[in-house]
Amino acid sequence: MAKHVVVIGGGIMGLCSAYYLKKEGHQVTVLDRSSMDGGASYVNAGYLTPSHIVPLAAPGVMAKGLKWMFNSSSPFYLKPRLNADFLRWAWYFHRSSTASKVARALPVIAEINLLSKALYEEMHSSGDLGPFQLEKNGLLMIFRTDAARRAESEVMAWARDLGLEAEELSRTALDSLQPGLRPEIEGAFHYHCDAHTTPTQLMPLLRKSLEEKGVAIRVNTEATGFKTAGGHIRSVQTPEGEVFADEVVLASGSWSPLLAKRLGLRLSLQAGKGYRIDIKGQTPVRLPAVLMETKVAVTPMEGFTRLAGTMELSGINHQIRENRVRAIARAAETYYEDFKVTEPDLAAAKCGLRPVSPDGLPYIGRPAKWENLTLATGHAMMGWSLGPITGKLISEIISEKPASMALDAFHPDRRF
Ligand SMILES: Cc1cc2nc3c(=O)[nH]c(=O)nc-3n(C[C@H](O)[C@H](O)[C@H](O)COP(=O)(O)OP(=O)(O)OC[C@H]3O[C@@H](n4cnc5c(N)ncnc54)[C@H](O)[C@@H]3O)c2cc1C
Repeated sequence: MAKHVVVIGGGIMGLCSAYYLKKEGHQVTVLDRSSMDGGASYVNAGYLTPSHIVPLAAPGVMAKGLKWMFNSSSPFYLKPRLNADFLRWAWYFHRSSTASKVARALPVIAEINLLSKALYEEMHSSGDLGPFQLEKNGLLMIFRTDAARRAESEVMAWARDLGLEAEELSRTALDSLQPGLRPEIEGAFHYHCDAHTTPTQLMPLLRKSLEEKGVAIRVNTEATGFKTAGGHIRSVQTPEGEVFADEVVLASGSWSPLLAKRLGLRLSLQAGKGYRIDIKGQTPVRLPAVLMETKVAVTPMEGFTRLAGTMELSGINHQIRENRVRAIARAAETYYEDFKVTEPDLAAAKCGLRPVSPDGLPYIGRPAKWENLTLATGHAMMGWSLGPITGKLISEIISEKPASMALDAFHPDRRF
C-alpha cells in the first residue's frame, strides 16, 4: 500500500531513502533545514569502501585519541567535554572497541558495503540519474613505515578471508600504477574491490532525478518537532506548518539525536568533523589513495583532486581549524612529488560532520517505541558508501518486504 513518507534530512541517506521509496510507489517528501549544497554528503572523499571493514571503534583508537588530544594537527581528535551525551557515547565507544566485537562486525561491514556498491553500479548502468563518475580502479593504501605496513597487512588478510580482492604492491609495482611518489614511500596495498565517485556531482543529480520523479524536496525547512498519538507519529512540525505523515524516516545525520530526543529516544551519536581541500590544478594523483601514516584520503574526482581527512569529535560546530587543514595539505605534499596546495585552495577548505555511532555501525531500522518511525543514520566514515543499501533497506522496512540482509547489527535500540 502506498504511503506518504516524510524523510527528515536531504543528505545521501535521505536522498537514497527517497529514491528507493519512490521506486516502491510511495509518495515522498524530503525536508532539509539547509539549502542542500554542503555538509558531509558533499565534502567526503567519494570512496565506496568494501575495504574499510574495521569499524572506528577498534582496540587502541580511544588511547590514540587521548594521546593526540593536545596535538592541533593530529588526524584524530577528541575534545574532552563534561557533557552527559558525550560521556555516555565515549563509554559505549570504549565498550565497543574490543577484538571480539570488531571480529563480529567485520563480515557485517563487508556484506553491507558490497551490497551498496552493487546498487551504485545498478544506479550507474540504469542511467536513472544521467552519467556520473563511478570508477572501479580500487583504492591504494600507501605506506612509508613498516609499522603501517604491518597493521594494514593484518587488515588485508581479514579482507581476503571475507572474499575481498586485495594485494600488496612492491614499490616498483606501485610506481607503474601511481608514478610521482616520493622516494621514502615503501609500497602500498591495493584493494581492487573499492571504487570512487564525485559527491558534488552525484548529489545534485540524485536530487534532480528525484524531483523529476515527483518527490517533493523542501529546502530551508527544519523539522522542529512531532505530533504524536499513542505510539504513532502523526505529523512533523516545521516553522511553515505541519507535514502529515504515514511514515517518518529520520536521516538527519549528526543532528539526528536532537530530533530523536523530541520522541523520547536516547540515540547515542556524536558528530565527527572532517575537512576537504579541492585542488583544481594538475596533480600527480592517478588512483585514489589513503596516505596511511597521516590518514589522509586523496581522490582523483571529476575535474579536480580532493584531499580529505581528520576525525574531530568536538560537538556540532563548523569551525574550520587552520592547523588541521594545513596538516592535510602537508600530508599530500610529503607523499607525492610535485604536489602543491595553494593558499586559495586552503582558504576554500570546507568541513562536514560524520554521524558517528559508538560501535561504528549505522542505525537502520525501527525503534520499538514508534510504529511508524525508521532510522537511517550513524554511518560514521562509511556513509557515502552505504547510502544506496541504506535507502533500499529503509524502503523494504516501510514496504513490509523481506530485507536484503539481516538488520540485527544495526538495530536502533541495540545495547553497547
Ligand atoms: C571529510 C569526510 C570524508 C568522508 N569520506 C567518506 C568516504 O570516502 N566514503 C564514505 O563512505 N563515507 C565518507 N564520509 C562519511 C559520509 O560522508 C557520511 O557518513 C555521510 O555523508 C552521512 O550522510 P547523512 O545523510 O547521514 O548526513 P548528512 O550528509 O549530514 O545529511 C544530513 C542532513 O540532514 C539535515 N538536517 C539536520 N537536521 C535537520 C532538521 N531538524 N530538519 C531538516 N533537516 C535536517 C542537514 O541539513 C543535512 O543536510 C566522509 C565524511 C567526511 C566529513
